[in-house]
Amino acid sequence: MPPAAPTSTTSTSATPATPIRIPEHLLPRDGRFGSGPSKVRPEQMAALAAVGETLMGTSHRQTPVRSLVRRVREGVADLLGAPEGYEVLLGNGGATSFWDAATFSLARSRAHHAVNGEFSGKFYAGTNAAPFLEESEVVRAEPGSLALPAPSTAADVVAWAHNETSTGVASPVVRPAGGTDDALTLVDATSIAGATPVDLRESDVYYFSPQKAFASDGGLWLAVVSPAALARIEEIAASGRWIPESLALSQAVTNSRLDQTLNTPALATLVLLAEQLDWFRDNGGIEWAAARSRRSTDHLYAWADAREWATPFVADPAHRSPVVATIDLAASVPAGQVISALRENGVLDVFPYRKLGRNQLRVAAFPAVDPADVEALTACVDYVVERLGA
Ligand SMILES: *Cc1c(COP(=O)(O)O)cnc(C)c1O
Repeated sequence: MPPAAPTSTTSTSATPATPIRIPEHLLPRDGRFGSGPSKVRPEQMAALAAVGETLMGTSHRQTPVRSLVRRVREGVADLLGAPEGYEVLLGNGGATSFWDAATFSLARSRAHHAVNGEFSGKFYAGTNAAPFLEESEVVRAEPGSLALPAPSTAADVVAWAHNETSTGVASPVVRPAGGTDDALTLVDATSIAGATPVDLRESDVYYFSPQKAFASDGGLWLAVVSPAALARIEEIAASGRWIPESLALSQAVTNSRLDQTLNTPALATLVLLAEQLDWFRDNGGIEWAAARSRRSTDHLYAWADAREWATPFVADPAHRSPVVATIDLAASVPAGQVISALRENGVLDVFPYRKLGRNQLRVAAFPAVDPADVEALTACVDYVVERLGA
């Protein structure tokens, strides 16, 4: 294993005395490669400016904003191919708040988790600490490898991440065989929803935040929920369990059906999200969006394979994320210096997940990111590494 990268990626102490100037012609047109918040397209920002004096600053209880929420709910259902009876819910607080809402409103007595990294681990920690639930079951992977949920006869919710953003491991969305019949599958799709096809019949709750593959801003969660999950929300709401109002999914069901949220949402986040949904639809939908991300990540993995000093972190190609590529660097190539040099040239946010602590680059290639810019990024990395004389 290469030594750990410096934990602070903003530190400039690792920068060599002579700053590295990457030639203009090598630079990407847009230098944003972060895993979230991620690149927002200029066209989305123009669309936001266009409603700057009509929709922005108006009531979320009136028709213009409710129509926008409807456009988002219908756009998500359409893009992801929501089966008959599935509904799109939304609420405030992002995927992190959704974990708490799911703990309160979906888990009956025991949760089962497959943990592949920090994000899937946080949801496990949440259900495991809930005083009204039994101890959670957990299957853990070594960072960079894949753990699948195991069959369980005790769990009534089974949770995993479709894309573990901290390691770049993608999981299949398939109901585990051999568990209890009425266990619900809860899939954290935060960093991959909209960037890969999915069969939602395999999932009861497919949830995400909009600041990743949907190129919007943070603050909201969205979830595509099955009839079984809707029934569970109703069952638990009627059970007498104390649930804080802002985390009660029964409130989200009632409000979402009215194209509203329990409390005030960020309107700009909704506008940017609706624009990205339209952009996907107008260009060919999920297959088109997925192909864009695939082209970028295929390039990144092939580029790494062709360098002596770079290796895809996820050893099994079948488990490599099609949206967030993690690339380990050899010890002779300090990632902190590469990341600093890139940043000074406007190429941003390719640092690894902080707690992973690896000598690594992590590149998010969401559909908004131009595959040509990803090719430019790797040319920039080659240039910087050569100048560092590693
Ligand atoms: C980013 C991320 C989250 C957290 O999203 P927030 O909107 O910051 O709450 C959760 N899960 C995964 C897989 C993520 O990538």
